Amino acid sequence: MLRVSNLCKSYGPVKAVDNVCFELEKGKILAIIGPSGGGKSTVLRLLNGLETPDSGSIYFINSQGYIENGTFGLVFQEYNLFPQYTVLGNLTLAPKLLKKNYSQAIEILEKVGLTDKKNNYPSQLSGGQKQRTAIARALMLKPDILCFDEPTSALDPKLTEEIVNIINQLKGEQTIIIVTHDMDVMRGTADITAIMDNGKLRLDI
Ligand code: ADP
Repeated sequence: MLRVSNLCKSYGPVKAVDNVCFELEKGKILAIIGPSGGGKSTVLRLLNGLETPDSGSIYFINSQGYIENGTFGLVFQEYNLFPQYTVLGNLTLAPKLLKKNYSQAIEILEKVGLTDKKNNYPSQLSGGQKQRTAIARALMLKPDILCFDEPTSALDPKLTEEIVNIINQLKGEQTIIIVTHDMDVMRGTADITAIMDNGKLRLDI
């Protein structure tokens, strides 16, 4: 289980994240909605270690109540794919991943419905396929929690539905945090909902 306690981050006078607390059990999906500037991306950046909190803590707790190690993965809004590598290349490129992960990559590509695109380059993919490649790449590192920053903001309604379906396929086996503007995405995926405004997170909206 993830436990976030009293998390705070300010930029000058702006309290981007103001005393945020929440818990997330394994296999559950938390969706955070809220106005632009509310602090959602900052929370994701703090969780993923891309920013350092001013105060507060981020822990994984095991079933005995002890702190354990845990990892986060982040699917960026702009995908951040490497244009010079194929889909398969994008999945197996990370220095942590050795050649033996080829079979894992094939398995994950099948899961996200991209098997037939494995030798294509990002420029040859649709928006939805790029997004699925980014999801597959994040899954390669087997993060305990996979975070999505506005996964559907650049997609049309049909592709949005596709991404919602993929997120739902991962449901149960993958713990997920989604930041979204889209009420339908939240309703279609979340076990737990939250709204973030002015740096404050309110659960169960
Ligand atoms: P959201 O993702 O909900 O749109 P953000 O987390 O991006 O909100 O931003 C929360 C607040 O923190 C905003 O007022 C934003 O301008 C400010 N902010 C975010 N990142 C930085 C930064 N690197 N430097 C200064 N201010 C920032």
